Amino acid sequence: MREEPKFAIIGAGMSGILAAIRLQEAGIDFTVFEKADRVGGTWRENTYPGIACDVPSHIYSYSFELNPDWSHFCSPGAEIQQYFEDIVDRRGIDAYIRFGAAVTSARWNGEAWEVTAADGYSDTFDWVIAATGILHHPKLPDIEGLDSFEGHMWHSARWNHDIDLSDKRVGVIGTGSTGTQITGTLAGTVAHYSLFQRTAQWVVPVEQIEYTEEERENFRTNGEELRNLHETLSKQFNDGFATSILDKDSGISDSIEENCRNYLETNVTDPELREKLRPTYRAACKRLVVSHNFYDAVQRERTEVVTEPIERIEPSGVRTADGRLHELDVLVLATGFQVDRFMRPMEISGVDGVLLDDVWSERPSAYLALGVHGFPNFFMLNGPNSPVGNFSLIQTAELQFEYIMQLVELWRAGQIDFAHPSEAAAQAFEAERVEAAKGTVWATGCSSWYLDDRGIPFTWPFAFSRFRDEMAEPKLGDYETV
Ligand code: NAP
Repeated sequence: MREEPKFAIIGAGMSGILAAIRLQEAGIDFTVFEKADRVGGTWRENTYPGIACDVPSHIYSYSFELNPDWSHFCSPGAEIQQYFEDIVDRRGIDAYIRFGAAVTSARWNGEAWEVTAADGYSDTFDWVIAATGILHHPKLPDIEGLDSFEGHMWHSARWNHDIDLSDKRVGVIGTGSTGTQITGTLAGTVAHYSLFQRTAQWVVPVEQIEYTEEERENFRTNGEELRNLHETLSKQFNDGFATSILDKDSGISDSIEENCRNYLETNVTDPELREKLRPTYRAACKRLVVSHNFYDAVQRERTEVVTEPIERIEPSGVRTADGRLHELDVLVLATGFQVDRFMRPMEISGVDGVLLDDVWSERPSAYLALGVHGFPNFFMLNGPNSPVGNFSLIQTAELQFEYIMQLVELWRAGQIDFAHPSEAAAQAFEAERVEAAKGTVWATGCSSWYLDDRGIPFTWPFAFSRFRDEMAEPKLGDYETV
């Protein structure tokens, strides 16, 4: 056996906390680098009104930290943030986290990784886990005059809670999962609400189920029931719903579309508004929006859905192509994220000083969504090509971490010196992935953040069972290990 490894984890969001817990349990030395002053990642940064996770809470939980106290089937963001903070507290993970330490570079020196942070701290590590998230870098819309707006303006992931909105004219650009959740809560509560919709969304109706105190007490006292619920929901969600909608020919997306269409027909009374909200592409081509209140919200008082294209932003509001000026006090940009950034702008250099930025100059990709040729002992959780879509990212990260630990165990036993995917294996995986991606529902003719610069979905295109099988055991033949 060689000496114990030393790990750097980049990011203290859901995936980074998971890695920290698992390493702590394994008695392995690690440091978590976190640029902010709190844990939580996406749940720390996204605090917009109406934020919730539309993946059921009992599977948006670590399998080893099931939570009997979830308030709802799909719980609000603040409660999810609290869940992560409580776990970090209870397990003493704080002690391993360097807050305010944004990693600026990670360099492979031939034997180990030299990791440097903006706070000046630098150290050497045997393994690096990048847990920096996908939906992390806000994307601002490329609209003329954006900077000229004289009211308050912010991106949905940078909500300004200092402004009382009740007497304001609020405009929101974007109708993705974020824009629709904001609308569900905010429309009707402000002086005037304008939702600027470029593309209509298919909306899956999901009842907002609140767990009763009796049900929660039952989960508290009956751990087996809680575990069964986690398992059943995981199967239904990942192997059932999220997997079956991938295949454009499965017929499931047709039945989801019918469900969404019925919801639209029966819940939106004004025919003109109904037509504005009717999508013209296949359901699930964009990420499905799940909502219990969006259609209700757009029919509230003092609320308008604007479908005229935006021509430009002016100091006092949004000018649409019909010449109308929509005067606003507040403009919210629910315009999504730069999903090809991942760890960037960190400078990550691998074997022979090769920069990850250069390897990814066209677009990011990763062998099995985890590793990159030329970057030994460097692995990502929820990295490029990971199952996103409507899958539970927690389960994905758990499986990815168990896989990485199998390589670490070989390293600890002295059987390998390092591990990174061979170029041939990485290329073969990517070629197969791209072919499969072309046959998914995401490639049926809509635009979405799933598509890369070529218009090919960059996400995991296979069934979740394939992901689980791949993660069960590393194929050492696909790796360079000495
Ligand atoms: P998004 O899905 O990328 O949506 C961005 C929205 O902004 C789209 O409606 C887009 O219109 C619009 N937009 C962008 N640029 C525009 C422009 N120049 N002019 C007009 N409209 C513009 O971003 P998101 O809503 O933040 O969601 C991102 C992902 O985060 C989701 O798909 C989901 O995976 C995750 N999320 C999850 C939850 C949850 O409950 N689990 C909640 C929120 C977010 P087009 O459609 O026309 O491009």
